[in-house]
This record gives sequence, structure tokens and C-alpha cells, in this order.
Amino acid sequence: MQLLHSEPGDAWRRTLQRSSERTRIVVNPRPAVCKTIRMSVISPRPWAELPEADARAVIGVLTDIDDTLTTDGRITPDAQSALARLKAAGLHVIAITGRPMGWSEPFARPLSQGGWPIDAIVAENGAVALFSTADALAIEYAQGEATRTRNAQRLREVAASVLREVPGATLARDSAGRVTDIAIDHGEYARLSAAQIAACVAVMQREGMSATVSSIHINGWFGDHTKLSGAQWIVRRLLARELEAREWVYVGDSTNDQLMFGHFPLSVGVANLLEFAGVLKTWPTYLTRGARGAGFAEVADRLVGTIGRP
Ligand SMILES: [Mg+2]
Repeated sequence: MQLLHSEPGDAWRRTLQRSSERTRIVVNPRPAVCKTIRMSVISPRPWAELPEADARAVIGVLTDIDDTLTTDGRITPDAQSALARLKAAGLHVIAITGRPMGWSEPFARPLSQGGWPIDAIVAENGAVALFSTADALAIEYAQGEATRTRNAQRLREVAASVLREVPGATLARDSAGRVTDIAIDHGEYARLSAAQIAACVAVMQREGMSATVSSIHINGWFGDHTKLSGAQWIVRRLLARELEAREWVYVGDSTNDQLMFGHFPLSVGVANLLEFAGVLKTWPTYLTRGARGAGFAEVADRLVGTIGRP
């Protein structure tokens, strides 16, 4: 067992990447501020240590998109290729994202129309499912039309409140494609401090919204749907079976993946998850060596490699 005492950052990542043994990272989130020692202990294992029997039980991969498959908002060739390898191996692949319906639409289309090699995208944190049928793109909502219509005005009002009450806050540039939530940009094109992010979340929650923070956006919505409820919904909808946690791998990179990290025994963080080490409360079971698309490719290679062996 190796103990690392450090702040989040590249030094951690390099050390983690060098370590082939089970690694425990000890985090002191605010050592310069705290008078008493506050330490949280995490023990994610290297993804390469996934037991073969666990890999063989997997029927599919659920994955976040931003900073898990993408870098600077675009899917990278290593991640795109990994998606294709997973599909070719007969595994289901479903993306679960906080991105909007409109942003997700081109990627959910059939391969022949430029889409990604995946079964579906669940967008807006569990609110919208997009999947291709034989000749069309299907879009379905977790909430009924009456509920969405009723919420639409409130979404605009809360967005205005956030912009008014939190100086520096701006709407995410993909806001035009959103139908069930609002998003404030904190890391895609804008840069907000931790205090500004917390202030945005506080306004959303005060107004009765659910709120999460991804690597780029602060999302707020009305309703109790989540990435997890969205995953359960789409598996039931497409595969006519219940989502059994041990049959799926979940891959993510940020604080808005914590619900999924906690639910799935085979949860995986790509290495850039360590950028959030100081604020993460629920860690995945495994960490990849590589960041973003390179990390996702590791996930695919391990699964495909295991399934492919006699
Ligand atoms: Mg992400």
C-alpha cells in the first residue's frame, strides 16, 4: 500500500500513473485553512486490477461525455475508437450527460448519419433520451408535456435570478438546446470561482431545483430525475430489462458523477477526476492511468480484451 499526501494536480496524476500497486490517496482538502486536521481517505484501485470474472459479467458501459469522452467539447479519436470496439464486442454503450437535448442530437443519430457508435444518449441529467430507430431519431422525455410546459417559465425565472444574484455568472452557450433545465458555464468558456459556483447552486436549490456541478457547467432542473434514474429508464426502454448494477460499468470524471460512482460496483474515474479530489465525496472503485479519452480507451481495452479471450 502506498500513501500519498498531496494536493490535487499533476504530481498526483504522475505518481498514480507510475504506481502499479493498490494506491491509497490521503486528501487534506484545505490544509492551510483548517485548524484541525480534516482528512478524507480514498482508495480507488487501478482499473487494470479489475478481476476477470467481474469483466466477464459486464453487458454494457454507461459513460459520461464531457471530459470523459471529450476534450474541449469534442470527442477525441481514442474515445471514438473505443466506443466502436465496445460495440463490436457486443456490449451496450449508453452515454449519460448533463448536455442538452439539442447538443446531443447529432451524436445520437445512426452511424450512417454521422452519429457515434452507441445505443443511446440520455441528456439533461436523466430528463431526455435520444436513440436511433431503423429510420429515425427517437426523442423521449422523462416528464410529461404538461409538466415540461409548466416548468418552462420557472426555468427562465430562476436563470434570471442566478444571473442577477451571482455577478459574473453567464448561461452556458449550449442553452438554446435545453428543454428541461438551465446551465451556467463555470469552466467551458467562462471561469467561476468555487464561491461563485456555490452561490449559483444555492440560488437554484432555494428555488426548488435539483442542482449538480459537472466539469464545465452548473445544471439546475425541476424534478427528481438524475443520471441514475435516466440510466434505469433507458435500459428498461431499450433492453426490456432492469438495470442490474453489477452488469454495467460506469465511467465519469467529475462531481456530478458521484451518484453513479456510488451505485455501480464497477465505477471508473478517468484520471482527470483527480482535479476534483478536494471536493469529491464519493469516489469510483477504479481509476484509469490516462485522462479523458485515453482513460476511456483503457476501460474499453480491458473489457474487450477479457471478453475476447477464450
Ligand atoms: Mg464530465
